Amino acid sequence: MSDMPEVRTRIAPSPTGFLHLGTARTALYSWAYARHHGGQFVLRIEDTDVARSTQDSVQQILDSMHWLGLDYDEGPIYQMQRLARYHAVAEQMIAAGTAYRCYATPEELDAMREAQRARGEKTHYDGRWRPAPGKTLPPVPPGVQPVVRFANPPHGHVRWDDLVKGAISIGNEEIDDLIILRPAPEGVAGDASALGVPTYNFAVVVDDWDMGITHVFRGDEHINNTPWQINIFRALGAPLPAFGHCPIILGDDGLKLSKRRGAVSVTAYQDAGYLPEAMLNYLARLGWSHGDDELFSVEQMVQWFDGSHLARSPAQWDPAKLAWVNAHYIKAAADSRLALLVQAQLATRGVAVDDLPLLERASALFKDRCSTVVELADWTGMIFVPVEPAAEELAAHVTEAVRPALRSLRDRLAAVDWDKATIAMALNETLASHQLKMPQLAPAVRVLVCGRAQTPSIDAVLTLFPRHTVLERLQGA
Ligand code: GLU
Repeated sequence: MSDMPEVRTRIAPSPTGFLHLGTARTALYSWAYARHHGGQFVLRIEDTDVARSTQDSVQQILDSMHWLGLDYDEGPIYQMQRLARYHAVAEQMIAAGTAYRCYATPEELDAMREAQRARGEKTHYDGRWRPAPGKTLPPVPPGVQPVVRFANPPHGHVRWDDLVKGAISIGNEEIDDLIILRPAPEGVAGDASALGVPTYNFAVVVDDWDMGITHVFRGDEHINNTPWQINIFRALGAPLPAFGHCPIILGDDGLKLSKRRGAVSVTAYQDAGYLPEAMLNYLARLGWSHGDDELFSVEQMVQWFDGSHLARSPAQWDPAKLAWVNAHYIKAAADSRLALLVQAQLATRGVAVDDLPLLERASALFKDRCSTVVELADWTGMIFVPVEPAAEELAAHVTEAVRPALRSLRDRLAAVDWDKATIAMALNETLASHQLKMPQLAPAVRVLVCGRAQTPSIDAVLTLFPRHTVLERLQGA
């Protein structure tokens, strides 16, 4: 038995919007790492930004985690329910001399920074309220609610071996005395007004400590925060987790993937007809590799994912590759499952279909051509919703040469058994009696019945429709 502590990872989204793809990716890495080691995965909701956090966003995050199948062993834990704990830790730190109250007003701090700029200095908190042996602090101004600042070590370096980026070192001189607890914003009642609200860098440390987190995977926009966090861990005498900072995801223009440049939420891809296993597979590869493997199940990933082979440079979001991955999983998906997804998709278009066996047959027939469930529903929709063939398609395929054949096909179809073999026979008899070839007749039938000139085998496609629909649409010939 190893005496290493059990692996415990977490994902800690802020509920200020949907679950971002970047967060979903680090959630996947954290989850897979815990599962790989037989450890635990925690979901924490970092809701201390009172003005921007919403219950709706919490729900979206929970739904997206559920949809992706990223199950957590603990949580959701809400930071706003832990205010007493942050308050207590801040008080302990004040008593221990690793934190202090600062009464500087925002105006005063503005003036301080202004003066620093005027002197050509980099702006920083000048430590005016930081206690030091022999130092006299300013008199406490009346009516000013203090913040609590962390007394960052003044010298030395913060170093860590990042699981993704390798060795990182930052001089403590570069780091300010961070605010760790501040009075609640106006209008916030309850515990927050009595206990104050922690800042991200403080709450994250208290939580990672309390929750026994051993490995932190997160986006590299937090690299600059990590030195503060490490110093706070040390000040608390808490064990340090290992950190792995994953590079941002770039859009196809080489800039950070953001809302302005297309869909960035898990929900948007769910709505657009992507399968969760495809998202997981694609997100896994976006910043991590296992040899040349491109298509693998999440179980396979869990076996492989040991924290190595995480990419150091940013990956580019590639919609075409995602569509390719999704097409693979659509092809592999059970038709009965696709039928339900198509049913739900059609329902969003106001098309209610309760014939699941029919949707199953349609899925089986069309899925090879589709990269999303939305496309599958586009194909399937033609069975239920009138089609509007384009004028050019009609002109190109429904010609005078085939019209008589279409009419006699219609007559034949009115009378035959409605199954693939018999429909095929009706088609062949029509061809023979009109001396036509299938490539002349089939596209015309497709355009009229399906609204498009290309489909899977026409006899198989026709069986999906009720006979009367086919006859009605051929009437247009
Ligand atoms: N709430 C932070 C975020 O969503 C968490 C960062 C972290 O994992 O430490 O970016």
